Formats: sequence, C-alpha cells, structure tokens
Amino acid sequence: MNDTIAAIATGMGSSGIGIIRISGEKAIQIADKIFVPKNHNKKICNMASYTAAFGHITYNDEVYDEAVALVMRAPHTYTTEDVVEFDCHGGITVLKRILDLVISLGARPAEGGEFTKRAFLGGRIDMSQAEAVMDLINSKNELAAKASLKKLQGGLKDIIADMREKLLYNIAYIESALDDPENYSLDEFPQELKSVVENLLITIDKLIKSSSNGRLINEGIRTVIVGKPNAGKSSVLNMLLDEDRAIVTDIEGTTRDTLEEYLNIDGISLNIVDTAGIRDTDDTVEKIGVDKAIDTLEEADLILYIVDGSVPLSDNDRTIMDKLHGKKVITIINKNDMKVVVDKLWITKKIDTKIVELSAKERTGKDDLYNTLKEMFFNNELSYNDEVYITSLRHKNLLSEAKESLTKVLESIDLNMGEDFFTIDLMAAYTSLGKIIGEELEDDLVNKIFSEFCMGK
Ligand code: GDP
Repeated sequence: MNDTIAAIATGMGSSGIGIIRISGEKAIQIADKIFVPKNHNKKICNMASYTAAFGHITYNDEVYDEAVALVMRAPHTYTTEDVVEFDCHGGITVLKRILDLVISLGARPAEGGEFTKRAFLGGRIDMSQAEAVMDLINSKNELAAKASLKKLQGGLKDIIADMREKLLYNIAYIESALDDPENYSLDEFPQELKSVVENLLITIDKLIKSSSNGRLINEGIRTVIVGKPNAGKSSVLNMLLDEDRAIVTDIEGTTRDTLEEYLNIDGISLNIVDTAGIRDTDDTVEKIGVDKAIDTLEEADLILYIVDGSVPLSDNDRTIMDKLHGKKVITIINKNDMKVVVDKLWITKKIDTKIVELSAKERTGKDDLYNTLKEMFFNNELSYNDEVYITSLRHKNLLSEAKESLTKVLESIDLNMGEDFFTIDLMAAYTSLGKIIGEELEDDLVNKIFSEFCMGK
C-alpha cells in the first residue's frame, strides 16, 4: 500500500473540468514538482489540508494546463493517505498528458477502485460501504441512489456489527462457562440463547427479503406488456415512453436478444421488455405475445395487461388471462375515450389484478397508472427510505449462510445438545456476517470486488 497511485477521476470525454487524483506517500512531493502556483506562497508542500491554489501545471519549461490544486493530508482523506487533486480543463488529451507526467515522476496508474480499496484497507470504511460507493456511482435512478447512500453512511455495517457483537458475546459466554463452571452457569442459557438467535433470524430474514426490493430499485422492474391485437399495446408503450423521452434509453436485454425500453417514473425504473412477439401482432393468438413472450412472462416482475375497453372481452383475452395467474398484474382498460363496455368485475374475478382506465390515444389517465404502480411495489415505504436494502447478491448469499448456521443452532438447542455444539454454528454465522463488512475476507476476494469498480474511484 506504500506506492503512490494516480488516475483520471472524471469521465473519459470532453467536459468542463477533468480531475487528476494522486494518492500516497509521494502525492504531495510529485504534485509539488509539476505545479507552479500563481501566488508564490502557495506551494503545494506548504499548503494546509483542505486548501486549494490556482496555478499552472508545468514541467521542463512546458506548460500542460491551468489548474486548481486541492491538497488533502492524511489521515482525513478519502483514501486515508495524502491526496492531491488537480482540477484541469476536461479534454481527455490534456488529462492523459498530465497523468503520464505524474506517472513519470514516480506514481503508478491506479487500478479500478483502488482509491476506495485504500479507504477500506486504511480502515476508514468497511466493505459494505465500499460496495455502496460503486452502487451509488452506478445508480440509475433516485431511489437507487438513496438506497446506496444509506449503505455508504454505514446503515448495513451497523446492523451487521450489532448482530456480530451479540454472537461474539454468546460464544465467549459458552467458552467461559465451559472453562470456569463455578462462576458461569449454563442452566438457563439454552433458552436465553434461543431467544437471541430467533431475534437475529428475524433481522436476517428482513434483510434477505429486502433484496427483492433492492433488486427492483437497482435494476428496475421487469415489465411485460401483453394484450390481444389492437388492444393498444404499442400506443400505451408510446404514451409511457413519450412522457419521459429525455430519459429513455435502449439497453440490450441481458438474458435474451430482445430490446428493453428503460423508463423512469418518479424514481422507479421500469425495464419494459419489448419482444418481437409483443410488437409484431396480427390476428393469430400465437402472435399476440402469449407464445413468444411466454418466458418473458415467467421472469416478469410486472405485467401490464392491455384490454380494449371499447369491445367485449374475447377468447384471446381469456387465453391471456390464463397465463397471468400468480403474477403481479395491472390491467389497463384502454380506449376509455370511447364507451367502456368491458366487464371489469369479470376480470377481477378471473385474475388477481389492479385495474386502471386510460386512453392511450388522448394520453389521459397515466397518473392513475403511476400511482397504482408505486402502491403495488413500494407501499410508500420507499419514500421514507429509512430501510437498508440488500442489493448485492454477495450480501444475500452470506446472509443466507448465516441463516443456515443459526437455524442449526436452534436445532441443537431443541435437541438438548451440548453447549460446545452451539459455538461451532454461532462462529460460522459470525464469520459469514463478517464477510459482508469485509472482515474474514481473503485477499483475492477483496481484489475481485474492487476490480469491478470504475477507474479513478
Ligand atoms: P396493439 O396491436 O395492441 O399494439 O395496438 P395499437 O397500439 O397498434 O392500437 C390499435 C388501434 O387502436 C390503433 O388504430 C390505435 O390508434 C387505436 N387505439 C389505441 N389506443 C387507443 C385509445 O386510447 N383510444 C382509441 N379510440 N383508439 C386507440
């Protein structure tokens, strides 16, 4: 950890400002060699922590750029080491030349995530916070950003640390009692331990459960639109997309070769799966999406079932509804600019669904749809945003491991096993939870986690 690292910390394109970040023992010394302050008193080596100076980046009589130098001294910095940042002009060529210069003077190019890794190794943040940094950077919407920030501020770390403390206390108690039976009694202990473990399991279950919301927040709600031909699927989709034209992007579907339209509604992301089967409709039932979209339906978090409200339900509708059992469905009665003749009661008897009416043509009724959607997925709880959401599969798996170990403890208690049996599984849970916050993690795993970060972070 002793070498000095440097990277371009801002995006790799033209921009107003670009930042070169240097961290390590030689950061100040290297920066000093290339920075000539306008005010001669403001040499970098003399600057106090958290102060800035304006000047030029110059070396061997060549001027590279104008810049503002920001000096932050160890240990109160992002990495816990000395850090110097140069705010330069944002052209990528300029930045690369300055970075090369910094490297020629003794720094080494930072690997992806290496600044954050140093913050972790320096003990300033734990692994759950480090991972939250990456989540925050990659947030696609406001809720995802808020959820990662909560974790960055130690929300998950605190819960995990608290659980581990309880485990450790009980492990230590058993050990002491076995060593010194005269002073520590184990008489009532199994019952007390049982209630501790049960409470821990409640917390763990809650965290594991939060992961489905966590995924919805981070990746978006996988949404599929179905409906018979001419019900208005394309029109509804266009209405939704038009509303948010500016933030619509096409992203490649991850599991199959379909396009996903990405739509942001008040901070909630919908990934609308746009299969050929849904778009290219003609009169045959097979082509209304029931056939081609069938696996899409399987994986969908939400189905928008479009019904033409101006005509009675048909066999096509009945075929579709048969596929919707057990799914989260919003039925959209479209075309309510005309007389609605569809039997809504019949639909709610047939499938479990919320119903909204709208007119894709007149573009009215979308608020109802949005409200229903929010109610359905987040029951307002997200707007308070006080919860910690598990968004990482790594965390979820470790929580499941801890759950398994603690369940074994309960079994051992029920079977009246000896206390030393408890410690093995209590210890296993302690270790699994520790891995979430980065304790008990092997080096190569630490490296792997950080390698997924972006450059300069
Ligand atoms: P799809 O086959 O399900 O994708 O349906 P389309 O979106 O192509 O729409 C089928 C027909 O219904 C088109 O002629 C649309 O103009 C019409 N349509 C769609 N939405 C509405 C609506 O809200 N009101 C009325 N009156 N017509 C609509």
